[in-house]
Amino acid sequence: MDLSYQDIKFLPGVGPKKADLLAKELDIHSAEDLLRHYPYKYIDRSRFYYLHEISEEMPFIQVKGQIIRFEKVGEGLKQRLVAIFTDGRDTIELVWFKGISFILDKYKTGIEYVVFCKPTYFNGKFNLQHPEIDLPSQLPPPEQMGLQPFYNTSEKMKNSFLNSKMIQKILFPLVQSIRSGIPETLPGYLLQKFALLNLTDSLVNIHFPKNADLLKKARQRLKFEELFYIQLNILQQTKWRDQHFRGFVFGQIGHYFNAFYKDYLPFELTNAQKRVIREIRVDVASGRQMNRLLQGDVGSGKTLVALMAMLIAIDNGFQACIMAPTEILATQHFASLKEFLGDIGLNIALLTGSVTAKKREPIHEQLRNGELNILIGTHALIEDAVQFKNLGLVVIDEQHRFGVEQRSKLWKKNVNPPHILVMTATPIPRTLAMTLYGDLSVSVIDELPPGRKPIQTYHYYENKRQGLNQFIAKQVQVGRQVYIVYPLIQESEKSDLQNLESGYEYMREVFPNYKISMVHGKLKPAEKEYQMQKFVSGETQIMVATTVIEVGVNVPNASVMVIESAQRFGLSQLHQLRGRVGRGAEQSFCILLTDYKLGVDTRKRMEIMVRTNDGFEISEADLRLRGPGDLEGTQQSGVPFELKIANLAQDGRMLEIARKAAMEILEDDMKLEKNENRVMASQLRKLKTNTLNWGSIS
Ligand code: ADP
Ligand code: MG
Repeated sequence: MDLSYQDIKFLPGVGPKKADLLAKELDIHSAEDLLRHYPYKYIDRSRFYYLHEISEEMPFIQVKGQIIRFEKVGEGLKQRLVAIFTDGRDTIELVWFKGISFILDKYKTGIEYVVFCKPTYFNGKFNLQHPEIDLPSQLPPPEQMGLQPFYNTSEKMKNSFLNSKMIQKILFPLVQSIRSGIPETLPGYLLQKFALLNLTDSLVNIHFPKNADLLKKARQRLKFEELFYIQLNILQQTKWRDQHFRGFVFGQIGHYFNAFYKDYLPFELTNAQKRVIREIRVDVASGRQMNRLLQGDVGSGKTLVALMAMLIAIDNGFQACIMAPTEILATQHFASLKEFLGDIGLNIALLTGSVTAKKREPIHEQLRNGELNILIGTHALIEDAVQFKNLGLVVIDEQHRFGVEQRSKLWKKNVNPPHILVMTATPIPRTLAMTLYGDLSVSVIDELPPGRKPIQTYHYYENKRQGLNQFIAKQVQVGRQVYIVYPLIQESEKSDLQNLESGYEYMREVFPNYKISMVHGKLKPAEKEYQMQKFVSGETQIMVATTVIEVGVNVPNASVMVIESAQRFGLSQLHQLRGRVGRGAEQSFCILLTDYKLGVDTRKRMEIMVRTNDGFEISEADLRLRGPGDLEGTQQSGVPFELKIANLAQDGRMLEIARKAAMEILEDDMKLEKNENRVMASQLRKLKTNTLNWGSIS
């Protein structure tokens, strides 16, 4: 029986309604999918804790003790029920916001209970909110409870009682049924070589670990399998590409590059810029197609590097283009390249969604006949009507904003794929880069142009708003400009838009004499552009905006970035936003405003932001705190992550081992046709059909 064909609908305890939810919320359709829905943690219920042992790092605590008394606190909707609970030594508050009369009815003072809950830190002390409470007689003895699996669910699932416990219940009989053995997905020789647990035992123990040691072995095996197949897939594609395409050879450095370097460059290149340009030169002369990621913190001067790479392309008879994620950014690139290039005699054009059909015509024409050297634009570049005479280099700015599909369309703009340079200010940790892109080379600009003052970052609670307003006033009085950013993560969220608009009204009241721009994603492009331009030109002093201003915008005179509800932003995003200031010679400031009530992770995020300006440190921390599934970039890029079990922050070593193993196998049998390798060929096929976008990653 093939578990991947077994519809979950027919599993005991599931039925059509739950099956539907599992499919919609977690993409679980078959029994196999369900088995591959691993617990995200295990709680050791094998012992009781004392209240004095509580720490912030604990995901859960299990305590034995009694309720001393109940208290109702607050009025109406805000009313909550508090129970003072003691373990005989210390006390803690149990808190309920809902179901108060039910709780009062069910639990009594002076009876021994086992309380199990995630501790919350609030107002300087811990409490336990909506705890699980059982009589000790209702539970097995702790040493038999062992490791309890916890599964990811969604809000919708929980509302339909499809919580972690329910998933555990559904999985139990399924896991029993596979104990007799299911087909292996890795070849025997790999299991042997790396002493890996077989698939059956791994799946059994990942859900219901017999002991900690077997759980560890199960995790190892499943992590290896996951990383291995990702590598096998990417490396196989890379090999295939290398065999089928030759890269253009940019053999010479010619007139334009040299003239620009000698006569047009307005400042000395930083050493890091020089090094990266050298790396690119070597790459594009090698005969292999370049596929290079350029990482450099905001303001490190990536645009100039891109320009010099484009000049190399032009010197070798090719055209080049830059694709930027937003119209504002493309327009800015166009303006700054025009200024850099002055009268050097190159022909550049801007192509965005708002360029009229009439104005497009000559651009298309000049691209086809080769008169146009450089095209700058948004995703309008990938439309079919855009045909180059001889495209040699594609630069993609802030690459995480583009999907895989869009990127691969650019590839097809010439007979042989052009060289690709993707630039990002959101550094991707090495392990992640390796996982996402098989053969991607990485260049790093790890140095800012001289004379920049590091941005000073502060974390304030709401109560500092008055002082902050005075500070803003002072900055504007000395001629600086100010950003105020509001979270509007989903452009559809009404309440967020209201916050932004009332924030705008508030600023108008507080600063009646200043001019204020407001920008958000719901505005028409022309209106957005108009508001932006007013800020860029200095006509408005304050810009109230959502994250639409996050990427790339350059207003060197802006010296203050205020981020409202900073707790709602991820680290990389905060860092990106902060990068909008600190671009001129003046001292710049970033103010993170938050609520009082912050979770552990949020407080850590604020601390990291205050402590460091180093984008690489921040992205590593982001990876540790959030896991790669949430990392800026991996979601939008359409890459399959969603790693199910491996953790790129911790499993870098295993990733390298898996990669090396995959490489050796492909070296010897690229198509995986040998008998002992067939199992991998079929598993790979299966993954490609089942995993979104797996087939098209490069
Ligand atoms: P980013 O890497 O964030 O894209 P930009 O390319 O926009 O950064 O550069 C930021 C600013 O620094 C621009 O105004 C650019 O002209 C300037 N710049 C770039 N390189 C240098 C340099 N070597 N010395 C001084 N200023 C530079
Ligand atoms: Mg940039």
